[in-house]
Amino acid sequence: MAETSLSRILEKVTSRNQLSGDEIIYLLQLEGDDLKQLLNQADRVRARMLGNKIHLRGIIEFSNNCRRNCKYCGLRQDNLALPRYSLAAEEIVAMAGQGAKLGYRTIVLQSGEDYYDAEKIAWIIREIKGQTDSAITLCLGERDYQEYKLWRAMGADRYLLKLETADPDLYHNLHPDMDYQQRRERLAWLKELGYQVGSGNIIGLPGQTEETIVQDLLLFKELDLEMVGIGPFIAHPGTPLADFKNGSVAMTLKTVAITRLLLPLSHLPATTALGSIDRQGRQQALRAGANVVMPNITAAEYRSFYQIYPAKICINEQAVDCRRCIGGIIAALGREVAVDCGHSPKMV
Ligand code: SF4
Repeated sequence: MAETSLSRILEKVTSRNQLSGDEIIYLLQLEGDDLKQLLNQADRVRARMLGNKIHLRGIIEFSNNCRRNCKYCGLRQDNLALPRYSLAAEEIVAMAGQGAKLGYRTIVLQSGEDYYDAEKIAWIIREIKGQTDSAITLCLGERDYQEYKLWRAMGADRYLLKLETADPDLYHNLHPDMDYQQRRERLAWLKELGYQVGSGNIIGLPGQTEETIVQDLLLFKELDLEMVGIGPFIAHPGTPLADFKNGSVAMTLKTVAITRLLLPLSHLPATTALGSIDRQGRQQALRAGANVVMPNITAAEYRSFYQIYPAKICINEQAVDCRRCIGGIIAALGREVAVDCGHSPKMV
């Protein structure tokens, strides 16, 4: 397609937030100045719809135990080389308190798919909500409907449940002990319970094609997600995918930008994974439609054990160092740190 086609597609998606599969493929293949045009347009849409503020979500990785065996993930149960940890409820609440003191208006509680007691999680949510004015995002994988319901009743605001791919065959290949429809069902439950719901994908997964990325993007749109996390695949030596090559920064940025154009009000993080394969990765994503950063507030002694992928950045720093570093990155981009909770604009 000629340059006029690019202008026409960008004009269409900016006014109607719709793209066909062929148009998405065209955008995923852009290079050079055309690619810059796509990223710049996503950045303009982010500025117009959501403003200049960047939301910081302080993340506590409170347990690296996992009963699953996702082929790309270093926390998989069969990775016996990884030392496992699980924090006490009181420790988690204390870390959340420190995060709130650093100004994080959202605390993200994340773990592998652990058997962490649902009542204890309910207690943690209640304590954090009682002691801070921060919102709570949960990222705890697949649990029962009643557990999701309990946590929502205790005050949890948001839930992240990534699909990683919308292609059922690829999903089953990468998640031998999981079921695609079951995952989709849980996303529907979370919406029904009133959570702000996030999902997302991994770019560069072995077996992924441009067509499967199209499926991902169209599904994000269909689900009308409040949050979409898009990061590159990074091969972990302790997994069956150790010998595959990492995902590309450019393809990750294109996917972020197209997501911004399809879902102008969604919160899109500049992922730590992107910052881990390219030191400027998060900054580039923040210039391509992203508006969220998720600094780690887990105590430093545990960070290196939450190893979904290797060579993760920010594992030796203390929470206060991360806050200072992120503040510097945001200021250098000419943006500001948001002081509100950063709920979905669709819900407030
Ligand atoms: S991706 Fe999540 S569920 Fe899968 S092995 Fe890793 S921590 Fe467990």
